[in-house]
Amino acid sequence: MLLFTPGPTPVPQSVRDAMSQETLHHRTPEFEAVFKHSRELLFELLGMNEVVMLASTGTGAMEAAVTNLCNKKLLSINSGKFGERFGKIAKAYDISNVEIKNPWDTPASVDEVVQAVKSDADIDAIAIQVCESAGGLRHYVEEIASAVKKINKEIMIIADGITAVGVEPIDITNIDCLIAGSQKALMLPPGLAVLGLSDAAVLKIADGKGYYFNLASEIKKQRKNTTAYTAATTLIIGLESMLTCIKKDGGLDKLYHDTSLRAAANTKALEAIGLKIYPVRAAKAMTTIYDKNAEDIRKILKEDFQINIAGGQDHLKGEIFRINQMGLIDVYEAAWVVNCIELALDKLGRREYNATASRIFNIEFFELNKVEE
Ligand SMILES: *Cc1c(COP(=O)(O)O)cnc(C)c1O
Repeated sequence: MLLFTPGPTPVPQSVRDAMSQETLHHRTPEFEAVFKHSRELLFELLGMNEVVMLASTGTGAMEAAVTNLCNKKLLSINSGKFGERFGKIAKAYDISNVEIKNPWDTPASVDEVVQAVKSDADIDAIAIQVCESAGGLRHYVEEIASAVKKINKEIMIIADGITAVGVEPIDITNIDCLIAGSQKALMLPPGLAVLGLSDAAVLKIADGKGYYFNLASEIKKQRKNTTAYTAATTLIIGLESMLTCIKKDGGLDKLYHDTSLRAAANTKALEAIGLKIYPVRAAKAMTTIYDKNAEDIRKILKEDFQINIAGGQDHLKGEIFRINQMGLIDVYEAAWVVNCIELALDKLGRREYNATASRIFNIEFFELNKVEE
């Protein structure tokens, strides 16, 4: 089965091999060396001044960010399920919360955020997705962060980059907390979350909040290449292997370049066969199509062509489908996916198959590649 869901993503064979070695005890020099190297590679990936790894899924890092970085009121940006989650976390902890809510295809505007911040002096943290995976949209995170810092540089900018870190370069100049998760762009099994922190964020964390998700106790330990509680050893071994694998494949710039080309070629190919991109501003992590036959197409892909793509959630169930673009993806697999979507449209009697999708995909991918080289 070809796994083309925007999380979990397939784990490369070399990384699975690395994770199949004998169990290492977490309080040993052997594991601390692995931890140190993974940490160094994360500094390179995130570009932030501090890094913390947590044994949890991405949501745990979202929770840690909110509880440790917001003291008064959280402004959360809700253009989908994951933005909504930040508000739910605040609520669970009795942290005051205001929300900017938009339809799932629409990113929040810089203006909306600026107005909200200016009209409420209690807001001391903003939480936003870089890519809101519910509808595959790219928020104006960098622009929003820059505008907010001009108003009040004390406001913490929490950016959920779970489907953006490892997908495209992110300008972290005005970001205080950048979150990543193992099973999306990092191509690992679920269970490891990462937070990159600015110096200002580390200062604000001070003694930290909570117990398991107390970032102060983790920072203290992780600076010494260990963790407050048992480390997710296998996943951290996998992370070291994965980030090394990306390096061997040409590094982050090549990964970003290939992802960008593949996403663009996908979009052109699917538009050429009459399909409609859902978000107003599409992220590169996934290609999201709005279509009345979304579920039929997914079913045909799975049953006839052994390709697993994702559908929509909540009110978008049955209305959209999402194709993953995150990670090291072979171009022939990506070309095959658009080809099979065209075959599915034929099976549904919507459009006679003439190999347009794969042709356009190949032309776009290889032509764009030429221009940029
Ligand atoms: C997947 C995802 C998460 C976190 O999900 P977990 O299931 O907790 O790992 C958070 N934000 C975004 C944007 C995501 O895509």
